[in-house]
Amino acid sequence: MLDVRKIRLILELRESGISNAEVLSAIEKIPREKFISEAYRNQAYENIALPIENNQTISQPYVVARMTELLDVKSNHKVLEIGTGSGYQCAVLSILARRVYTIERIKNLHEGSNNIFEKLKLTNIVSKYDDGNNGWIEQIPFDRIIFTAASKKINSEIFSHIKNEGIIVCPIVKNNNQILVKYIKQNNKIISEEYDDVLFVPNLQGVV
Ligand code: SAH
Repeated sequence: MLDVRKIRLILELRESGISNAEVLSAIEKIPREKFISEAYRNQAYENIALPIENNQTISQPYVVARMTELLDVKSNHKVLEIGTGSGYQCAVLSILARRVYTIERIKNLHEGSNNIFEKLKLTNIVSKYDDGNNGWIEQIPFDRIIFTAASKKINSEIFSHIKNEGIIVCPIVKNNNQILVKYIKQNNKIISEEYDDVLFVPNLQGVV
């Protein structure tokens, strides 16, 4: 049953403009139901965001696919995610990247996602419980950085944490809306491009 729904979701993503076959295949490989509590599990393959613990959300599959596509991840890449949440986006990235580092500020979610990574044997994920806004200094430089909580502005230091030709994707708050922004570093200049309107939980400071 889940398989039929999963195939339908993949077709829907393709119709919505997700054309990168590797991204679609990564989404097909990761069982989204494992990242969702029992109460919502039957909706795991609906193209919607769903509540997770601590009043946070697992992102809509279209948004996960879109952000992953914009991030243009290659198999030799070292990727940093800020906002592990359920762990789903991180798991999708782990199929495409060499290694994914992920930071979560809510201890309960950090622990819960870690358990799922272990069960699914996603051994190329390294996670930590911290405020992610300063990045992960010990592991710089990264090829790619993804924020999965909405910020007014990225800490400008973060731009020095990616390599030349590196990419950062982040939902940015703009005029009471949120928009996906892709930043590309080229010869030490940052170029930014704006994409879809999105709806993410806010990026907050400190740990809980
Ligand atoms: N990528 C997640 C999306 C979860 S929602 C998924 O696929 O499920 C965003 C997450 O970002 C929340 O869990 C929230 O606690 C976390 N977050 C918000 N601000 C943060 C910060 N400054 N550092 C680390 N995590 C943060």
